[in-house]
Amino acid sequence: MNPDALAELARPEIRALKPYASARALADSAGILLNANESPWPPAGDGGLGLNRYPDPQPAGLKSRLAELYSTRPENLLVTRGSDEGIDLLMRVFCRAGQDRVLVCPPCFGMYALSARVQGAEVVQAPLVDTGDTFELPEDLGEKAGDCRISFLCSPNNPTGSIISSETVSALATAQEGTGLVVIDEAYVEFAPETSVIPLLAEHPNLVLLRTLSKAHALAGCRLGAVIANPVIIDLLRRIIAPYPLPTPTVTIAMRALTEESLADERKHLAMLAGERDRVTEALVSSPGIAKVWPGAANFVLVRAADGPRLVHAAAAAGIRLRDQSAQPGLGDCVRITIGTPEENTALIGFMREWNS
Ligand code: PMP
Repeated sequence: MNPDALAELARPEIRALKPYASARALADSAGILLNANESPWPPAGDGGLGLNRYPDPQPAGLKSRLAELYSTRPENLLVTRGSDEGIDLLMRVFCRAGQDRVLVCPPCFGMYALSARVQGAEVVQAPLVDTGDTFELPEDLGEKAGDCRISFLCSPNNPTGSIISSETVSALATAQEGTGLVVIDEAYVEFAPETSVIPLLAEHPNLVLLRTLSKAHALAGCRLGAVIANPVIIDLLRRIIAPYPLPTPTVTIAMRALTEESLADERKHLAMLAGERDRVTEALVSSPGIAKVWPGAANFVLVRAADGPRLVHAAAAAGIRLRDQSAQPGLGDCVRITIGTPEENTALIGFMREWNS
């Protein structure tokens, strides 16, 4: 697939745009800065951050650190305000309102369909199949994807925790080449790193990966994510992203959280979460009020309760917040339970014991 064919998947208006060129994009921040109508003095409490200055739109240091972590190159990366922004940018660049279609595989993260609808794109559903042990993509996935401009898959999937094989991703990307993008949301992949499809990126120019620092990296409050894709796609997304999407404190804190030393601590937390997920799963399996448990590969488990909404309500009354999933296709009475600290999980297990008795 040549770069022009890939660019032709984007909306013609976006391809024709002359993007806004911010002061910081036109010139670096060396010398006397009289080009951006900033205050020459830092604000009170600045703490050396230099918050009177606009931030670098795509900080090179953060990009190269993320490229290293994600085994890719900086030119394949766009850093965004969480992966929510990546989803929205993809929709706005590639989907023509009232014309283009977007594939989702529910039960799944709700922002794919919401962003599609905001953009005026039709949502096509290819529901996952509950095999009893796990949730699998349907056999007619390729047919449903058809002429969809974007197909969204998530692995490990929220809320089922199920994994999609790299053969399946590769086959769909091949089938969609020339007509659409295949987006794999890997928000939870740090919990099952061996399943990442990043090695497929070189073979499939229409493959896009979404990553986030909100989950395993514990930076949900920072709002940082990344789109990983062919540079043609990255350049198109850059055309419409806000001029200065990444606040200076966010970038500073993320760089601190991504040092080798911080990542060593993170690995301890990930190992602890995996053990805790087993402990919570075991307790839930033996709970009479729970009909089914899907432990999954991420930092949550999905359960089917005798009465899901009642479970969520009773847990809230006991000070424990759970997420009702019963509105999702095929997930009647299902509840998603995030794995917390050992103490929080012990409280959950104690509550479940009481709730059932
Ligand atoms: N994708 C999935 C599958 C998610 O579960 C979430 C958050 N719940 C996101 C993306 C959004 O993450 P972020 O905080 O990076 O916007």
